[in-house]
Amino acid sequence: MIPLKQLEKLAARHGTPIFVVDHEEIRRNYAMFKRYLPRVQAYYAVKAEPLPEIVETLYKAGASFDVASMPEFRIVYENIKRMPAQKRQAWIWDKIIYANPIKANATLRELDRYKPLVTYDNIEEIRKIRKYAPHAGLALRIRVPNTGAMVELSSKFGAAPGEAVDLILAAAKAGLGVEGLSFHVGSQTTNFENFVQAINLAADIFKEARDRGYAQMNVLDIGGGFPAPYDETVKPFKELATKINAELDRLFPRDIEILAEPGRFMIATAATSVVTILGRAVRDGKVCYYVDDGVYHTYSGIIFDHCHYHMKSFRKGREQICGVFGPTCDALDVISMSESLPADLELGELLYSPKIGAYSHASSTHFNGFPPAKVVHVNR
Ligand SMILES: *Cc1c(COP(=O)(O)O)cnc(C)c1O
Repeated sequence: MIPLKQLEKLAARHGTPIFVVDHEEIRRNYAMFKRYLPRVQAYYAVKAEPLPEIVETLYKAGASFDVASMPEFRIVYENIKRMPAQKRQAWIWDKIIYANPIKANATLRELDRYKPLVTYDNIEEIRKIRKYAPHAGLALRIRVPNTGAMVELSSKFGAAPGEAVDLILAAAKAGLGVEGLSFHVGSQTTNFENFVQAINLAADIFKEARDRGYAQMNVLDIGGGFPAPYDETVKPFKELATKINAELDRLFPRDIEILAEPGRFMIATAATSVVTILGRAVRDGKVCYYVDDGVYHTYSGIIFDHCHYHMKSFRKGREQICGVFGPTCDALDVISMSESLPADLELGELLYSPKIGAYSHASSTHFNGFPPAKVVHVNR
């Protein structure tokens, strides 16, 4: 966590709202991921927060990247400077996976010249890839249990396990190479059994594919979902890693490459937002603060990510349950109806929210004429 004094200084220098990104914390998160999952190469899911500065910091630390749109692909491709031209194809697969199972024809056409690694989960997509991106390598996204994840993803993507090998053989028959499998256990997964079950399911499919004559798969992508430590209820990452390592070592020989696509885990704890109190009213006996950032902006995760962020004050005072509202005129723009805050804060005072790095600033809008918070980088 960035010292409060420093946050206050940054707010004084830049004004508010600001979204303060701590690159030292990003490096710590990446190092922790590598330390506990030494066999797994982390492909940072750029959609969690796509700032190029973050891509650069993670690249320097050794990360690869998961992109899901052409603009995300370009953010990664164009912001990574050292790229050995002769080995470009190997480099692309080492550094980028295009992990959106559904891709526009135009996207595939544009991606093809990079000979990318892309995911798919249905027969129509095989036809599209064959036609528009025949040089792509494929990873089949399978559907796995998402029980207990904060954000469920299995209803939108993933081939049913029973049809997985048919889809692998269909791609092979179309002349495409299926490199392996991918899955996503759901975002902010606190039910670690999801990973155990998914890895076992994937191992069964590897075996069935071999039994039916397809032995070319050498990649397992265990996706995202690694939980950020938002509060004490989240069990330590080490505990999850121990389970994952045991299953991987038991079920997947060393020559199978293991990838993961952590988004939230890398960035959630690495950003803090700072806002200013613009207004104060007492409504039905409750103190309500109106601040200069809200759910259309940095706090968008309240809506899209089902996430609750805490609002904290820079000074102590007698606390009371208060309401905190964003700056727009929409009644949806509620940060919290019950935040414990000093009841005597004055207009112009600052509040801050830690651990707000993931799926927050990334989905800011310009609604009601209010621009997204200014980004401030520290410890770059
Ligand atoms: C969003 C997403 C991720 C990142 O998920 P987290 O829960 O933030 O780790 C990884 N892979 C895919 C395919 C995604 O859509």
